Amino acid sequence: MMTAAERIQQLRHLLQRASYAYYALDQPIMEDEVYDQLYRELQALEAAYPEYITPDSPTQRVGEAPVNQFESVSHRIPLYSLENAFTFADMVAWQERWQRHWRTLRQGEPLPPTAYLCELKMDGVALALTYENGLLVRGATRGDGLRGEDITSNVRTIRTIPLRLAVENPPPIVEVRGEAFLPLARFHQLNEERQAQGDPPFANPRNAAAGTLRQLDPRIVAQRQLDFFAYALHLPEGGSVPLGEELEGEPQSQRQVLSALQRLGFRVNPHNADCLNLEAVKSYYDHWQTARHTLPYLTDGIVVKLNDLALQQTLGFTQKFPRGCIAWKYEPEQVITDVVAITVQVGRTGALTPVAELVPVQLAGTTVSRATLHNADYIAELDLHIGDKVVIHKAGEIIPEIVRVFPELRPATARPFRMPTICPECHQPVVRPANEVVSRCVNPQCPAIVRGQILHWASRDALDIQGLGEKLVRQLVAKELVRTPADLYRLRAEQLLSLERMGQKSADKLLQAIANSKAQPWPRVLYGLGIRHVGSVNAQVLANHFKSVEELATATVADLCGVYGIGEEIAQAVHEWFQTPEHQALIADLKALGLQLAAETPTAPTAGQVLAGKRFVITGTLPSLTREAAKALIQQHGGQVSESVSRQTDYLVVGEKPGSKLQRAQELGIPCINETELIEMCR
Ligand code: NAD
Repeated sequence: MMTAAERIQQLRHLLQRASYAYYALDQPIMEDEVYDQLYRELQALEAAYPEYITPDSPTQRVGEAPVNQFESVSHRIPLYSLENAFTFADMVAWQERWQRHWRTLRQGEPLPPTAYLCELKMDGVALALTYENGLLVRGATRGDGLRGEDITSNVRTIRTIPLRLAVENPPPIVEVRGEAFLPLARFHQLNEERQAQGDPPFANPRNAAAGTLRQLDPRIVAQRQLDFFAYALHLPEGGSVPLGEELEGEPQSQRQVLSALQRLGFRVNPHNADCLNLEAVKSYYDHWQTARHTLPYLTDGIVVKLNDLALQQTLGFTQKFPRGCIAWKYEPEQVITDVVAITVQVGRTGALTPVAELVPVQLAGTTVSRATLHNADYIAELDLHIGDKVVIHKAGEIIPEIVRVFPELRPATARPFRMPTICPECHQPVVRPANEVVSRCVNPQCPAIVRGQILHWASRDALDIQGLGEKLVRQLVAKELVRTPADLYRLRAEQLLSLERMGQKSADKLLQAIANSKAQPWPRVLYGLGIRHVGSVNAQVLANHFKSVEELATATVADLCGVYGIGEEIAQAVHEWFQTPEHQALIADLKALGLQLAAETPTAPTAGQVLAGKRFVITGTLPSLTREAAKALIQQHGGQVSESVSRQTDYLVVGEKPGSKLQRAQELGIPCINETELIEMCR
């Protein structure tokens, strides 16, 4: 077992490396949300073992000391970081903390009201701007909060930062703070340009902004078109600025700061809100958690500030943070968890899929406890061991995936994964063809494969048999009541009644659903067969073309390739499937049972559908119609257009410089027509 001291050491080491890569090199080695989670783990460990806290721990420092490229300058007033909250409970705890602190400072006095001003947390670079007698004299980065880099010449190129304050007689020294950022559109454009020039793209807009501000050539900075939102103002004692509505003076609230900044000529983010309590703050947060995706720049949370500046002043600062402000970060789309085991699933095609069994975590509104690992190569590429700490990602409805492994945090007990050489279900040897990444069980009787096939047959886009779910299929296959989809149609009520939790009513209902599925049309049956590469769209395409299972089963690979949208790989798979004796037996069985293995008898062509049922192929350049126009004309009149000539082709439309299709059509005795004849047929 690893000791707490060792764990702290491991985390600190990794976070220090990440912090340097992020602040000094502008090349992050992990996502911000991942950094935040590891940081919290370190914080929790340090709280439990304060004896291990060292001054160089990332929890004790703000940012990084400036690198030596620019002159280092000390800040007149330190630039603090912001404490992070991740949940509403964190926000409640923060409110309690500042109120408790107030009580210790002002014993006996009533608590001040909870009036907050909420702003968006811009995901950019903090800048401190100094104006002397109204003129911009210095622009500096935050650095470690005490010393930053003097990047005045670069700051001057940002058009939304005024070089002169927009008021008469400003206080002799005015300090403005805010966030420089790269709008998303500029960021994408910049990365495209960089890629075109062979330069590595920036990881995100924040790094692009930070990297830009570190450019030694201000002309390049100017081209990049950074933008700036101001959010803080520092005046000398008694300094007065216009506050709006004919009011002048020293701002008393964050609201007045924002309005003064605008009057001084700065851009202020317009999406701020006064919130009288944490419930109102929560509504603002909930709104922006989704609405942020509509903004033309990135924000990574909201910043909640006590509106009363005197109150903020009274509460003061911890070593790193002001007590009267907090950043409430958006819910992460990536979380860290542990891989406790890797299990192997056998799918309906026999493919063995390794799956990571995780310590359950909340991610984007659901609990995640498993993530697919695809195949052995994927695991090797990730360098994943059983017992590793990993980052999982889920965007929207997409299945969770492991995006990163931390070999640095690997426990000594972690062990590598080996793909089994025998099937975990039927214990037969598995095969892995030399040119494939997937290992497969090739035993057609493997219960996992049979289960997969039956479930696929019953699925919504196939035969849509309601009530035939995973648990039931497991029992039917285990009891060998069902070996092929055809067996479903021979099931009897008494057999079903022997299954767990199956009463007469559900048995009757299921048998009815199975019987009803006999009416499902040919394309669905074809899809239900589960032929490799034949998804529901391809099944539809094939079923439109081959009107019966006999036509399809006797089609050559060339015939199949001739169907518009069907490629070589699909054609091969279909052809092979029908050559297999077990599949031929299954088809005969299904046919005898009355499943729909042919298209319904076509009705007489309706007016305007004069080409209905006719298949055309076009070759060469037609005198007036483009290829697309000719295709559209045929389709409008009910005909079909294929890419290549086969025995199923009815007509070849021949233009100038025809290709090999003409020869093939002549070999097969298929009538050839020209454009005029085609148009004539459509009349
Ligand atoms: P921070 O960026 O989380 O928050 C403080 C900053 O918020 C301020 O300095 C200010 O620049 C900014 N801000 C934006 N909008 C604001 C507003 N309206 N009002 C006030 N301030 C506003 O803190 P930090 O100390 O700069 O950086 C720590 C964070 O940086 C971490 O939480 C992490 O997300 C990220 N980080 C990432 C890595 C990595 O490897 N990916 C490494 C180190 C740090």
